[in-house]
Amino acid sequence: MTKKKVQTPAVQSLDPLANTKPTPGCKVCSALYKQWKAFSNPYSPDYDPSKATDRAVEMRRHSHGEAK
Ligand SMILES: [Zn+2]
Repeated sequence: MTKKKVQTPAVQSLDPLANTKPTPGCKVCSALYKQWKAFSNPYSPDYDPSKATDRAVEMRRHSHGEAK
């Protein structure tokens, strides 16, 4: 079973991009962060705000290997 595109209503009213930070030592987060930077940079050829948001959300939800 995969659960992608799950709606999480009213979890936070803040812009997810406001808190985008990779967790130190987490390779997945650092990879996501690199993509987020490329997607969120208007001067980048990869600029794509909706993808940037996806990466930011993914990073926020990532359990950094602490999940069982
Ligand atoms: Zn992580």
